[in-house]
Amino acid sequence: MSKKTIAVLTSGGDAPGMNAAIRAVARTGLTSGMRVLGIRQGYNGLLEGDLFEMDLRSVSDIIHRGGTMLYTARSPKFNSPEGVRQAAEMARKMGIDGIVVIGGDGSFRGARDLTSEGIPCVGIPGTIDNDIASSEYTIGFDTAMNTAIDMVDRLRDTMESHSRCSVVEVMGRRCGDLALQTGIAVGATTILVPEVPFDLDKDVVERMRFTKKTGKKHFIIVVAEGVGGVDRLAKDIEARTGIETRATVLGHVQRGGSPTRRDRVVASEMGYRAVTLLAEGKQNRVVVMRDGKITDLDITEALAMERTFNKKLYEIALKISI
Ligand code: ADP
Repeated sequence: MSKKTIAVLTSGGDAPGMNAAIRAVARTGLTSGMRVLGIRQGYNGLLEGDLFEMDLRSVSDIIHRGGTMLYTARSPKFNSPEGVRQAAEMARKMGIDGIVVIGGDGSFRGARDLTSEGIPCVGIPGTIDNDIASSEYTIGFDTAMNTAIDMVDRLRDTMESHSRCSVVEVMGRRCGDLALQTGIAVGATTILVPEVPFDLDKDVVERMRFTKKTGKKHFIIVVAEGVGGVDRLAKDIEARTGIETRATVLGHVQRGGSPTRRDRVVASEMGYRAVTLLAEGKQNRVVVMRDGKITDLDITEALAMERTFNKKLYEIALKISI
């Protein structure tokens, strides 16, 4: 039997720890006797045949780096039945027997479509938003959270000195996990997330007034990107409370930086498992974390799952940050 050839790509938004996952995929494949190809710029690179042969040293000195050595892209061309067919043809031409796709739900839809076109794919969840329903954890989340915490801690120093209020937008378009965890960790007076509707007077202004009466002089309001409108919010808060209020959007700094221990370790475990699945002839699977353990699920089933927001943790946050 000829040597199995696998390929790896990163797709959608980048996340710290993707490099550690690429490294694990390449090394597991190579040490299991496979040929390993790196595909540049996500599905675009597959369509264009932009790939290269990897050896053990191709992934040296990347475990501690943010971003992705394979670059990433959103590929509108791939996102059509014709695009998927063309990509599958290219994969066949390159002798690819399986692909590891590191990305979010959008990338997994592509992986599912490619699998149905005859190219076995396995997904690894990589996104700082932690917005993948099938997995409790996504690579990059811990790093992004720690970056956000560090930035808000810095803001806090200056807010404290001037007795101000800081409205901070953290990433998370559909998912408030980053806001929730960051909010708890920085002791935010209020956390606004897309999953929980809010009333400005009751949930923000009243809480600030109450806390002020107990002696608090500076305030942090953490807002998820999906809620948005932080400039307006800051103006409204200032108008209603008389407390000088500033808005800060943390933005893409949260996407970069050296991955934390957690992201490096989870990425390594997930990369190893993805290649093991392909070696066993499995396909259309996504590697996930469930009950704290690394396991895998059918991609189609995984994509049909609905995310649940940790309401209990949200309630705890509101109870203690007062
Ligand atoms: P993420 O993977 O982070 O969710 P996107 O949603 O932008 O990011 O998806 C990344 C890429 O995956 C898209 O640019 C596209 O090429 C591919 N993709 C997304 N949705 C689909 C789909 N329904 N079918 C096929 N490919 C898709």
